[in-house]
Amino acid sequence: MANEKIPYKIYLSEEEMPRDWYNVRADMKNKPAPLLNPGTGEPMGFEDLRPVFCDELIRQELDDTTKNIPIPQEIRDFYKMYRPSPLVRAYCLEEKLQTPAKIYYKFEGNNTSGSHKLNSAIAQAYYAKKQGLKGVTTETGAGQWGTALSMACAYLDLDCKVYMVKVSYEQKPFRREVMRTYGASVTPSPSMETEIGKKILAEHPGTTGSLGCAISEAVEKATGTPGYRYVLGSVLNQVLLHQSVIGLEAKAAMDKYGIVPDVIIGCAGGGSNLGGLISPFMGEKLRGERDYRIIAVEPASCPSFTRGRFAYDFCDTGMVCPLAKMYTLGSGFIPSANHAGGLRYHGMSSTLSQLYHDGYMEATSVEQTRVFEAAEQFARVEGILPAPESSHAIRVAIDEALKCKETGEEKTILFGLTGTGYFDMVAYEKFHNGEMTDYIPTDAELEESFAHLPKVPGQE
Ligand SMILES: *Cc1c(COP(=O)(O)O)cnc(C)c1O
Repeated sequence: MANEKIPYKIYLSEEEMPRDWYNVRADMKNKPAPLLNPGTGEPMGFEDLRPVFCDELIRQELDDTTKNIPIPQEIRDFYKMYRPSPLVRAYCLEEKLQTPAKIYYKFEGNNTSGSHKLNSAIAQAYYAKKQGLKGVTTETGAGQWGTALSMACAYLDLDCKVYMVKVSYEQKPFRREVMRTYGASVTPSPSMETEIGKKILAEHPGTTGSLGCAISEAVEKATGTPGYRYVLGSVLNQVLLHQSVIGLEAKAAMDKYGIVPDVIIGCAGGGSNLGGLISPFMGEKLRGERDYRIIAVEPASCPSFTRGRFAYDFCDTGMVCPLAKMYTLGSGFIPSANHAGGLRYHGMSSTLSQLYHDGYMEATSVEQTRVFEAAEQFARVEGILPAPESSHAIRVAIDEALKCKETGEEKTILFGLTGTGYFDMVAYEKFHNGEMTDYIPTDAELEESFAHLPKVPGQE
């Protein structure tokens, strides 16, 4: 072994687990742009957001200045059920690749939801409960967020109503049953339960749905039902804040052994795992204490960072949500139906968008067949069957390690392994049967989508 001193898995003790979340916005000179009211174009304040979101979560959403936000004891206790998550040295993968690079991954798949989403689900459910609400509504695409939220709501005895993108609902019936095991009600979206669902179905009768559409339904349901609020599993500042637990643990584990990553890689859908993983490292970078190379990896079929516009856009298809300034493909953008790899949201966290715009991180896109090749290679040597989403990060980590093999550089690579892929076997099956294809949207398709970006004063 290259370095006997560093164990395969580095764990933290319960005492070493973070007591605070870290709010990277506090260290940003250019803050993420505020959410705007779609009707007036004015920034949305606490009162404007109250019909949709829980009070404490709005405070976190709007807080650009408090660096460390204490994690309530109840949430820390819940975290202890499945955290700390291991930081793994990928010795077996390094050996297989014959690379001098040192590869580490932070594995977030060790809970029933199979992903990092539980870190924010429990926080959001906790604040909803504390506010005395009856329940929450949400959307889910691949199903991990819906599962995580169902688990958190079951634990806290809250109602949970999930709108699941129809294509996933049909492809992943077992995901639905896991959610129902935890007491959630699950509706395929678009549905006839909401006005926006009816409208979308009338306009596109055969549609298999999209995240943007399911969000509109969930928001409509929440605002129309007393005692309910809407919660979201990615994109928002509050979600990145909760997910900072990933990066704080990873950094604490690395610090124990004096490990400093050169490159940090994460997949990017709405940006929550990446934002969480990089947060303490980005903080050092923003404060000028240390430099890291940070890479966001997205699907070539849904390339928000690499081909999107940095503009105000709707967060949902039905245009009921506030406008967020972010890298976006347009709220009407729906990735090609052959896209199986997750990460299909049209926009991106406004915090990460600002950091990317200001040159603090890079982004790259990868095609799904190469993603599944990496997934399979990883599964065979590291023993974990990765989620397709996570495998975007694996792909680029392997590519970086192979570059080190050519140059002889002993770089230290850290990537986020966000979850497991047991519910994605239909996608794996397509890959194994050679039926998986890559689709990259044309410039003309993207231009058509950009043409529908909302007109906001001061935005060209
Ligand atoms: C939801 C999800 C992602 C993508 O969401 P982000 O908010 O970009 O992190 C990535 N991996 C897994 C396993 C997920 O469930």
